[in-house]
Amino acid sequence: MNINKLGVRVTKFGEKFKDSALKTTGNWKIDAQIRELQNEITDAYRILGFAYYEKMKTDDPAVRDNFSVKSKNLIDEIDNKSNQLTTLVESKTLLVQKRCNQCSKEVPDDSLFCPYCGASCKESAVDE
Ligand SMILES: [Zn+2]
Repeated sequence: MNINKLGVRVTKFGEKFKDSALKTTGNWKIDAQIRELQNEITDAYRILGFAYYEKMKTDDPAVRDNFSVKSKNLIDEIDNKSNQLTTLVESKTLLVQKRCNQCSKEVPDDSLFCPYCGASCKESAVDE
């Protein structure tokens, strides 16, 4: 697997994430983004583990130097994506906290009327 390719993929994902997070209206979209992000993080861990394995297998200083660079990039990416994941989970929590006071279905935070039953959505519905 190519570490540089991963870096490009991760950066692209970060940009896509930023745009779509702003536009997201449905929970299913956020769930899909969360799954994608979790997969990306898992991939980065796997590549990091493999690079570490390659480093430990050899005394070649070039491989060891290369690992230092690779691992720093991967660790940065993992930290970056973990932060994105936290933001995403938080924004999902914000989205799901509002519920219809008639049918109890989750409604978007800025809804005036419930998209399921048409009831008016008042702020007081959140705590009831
Ligand atoms: Zn409703």
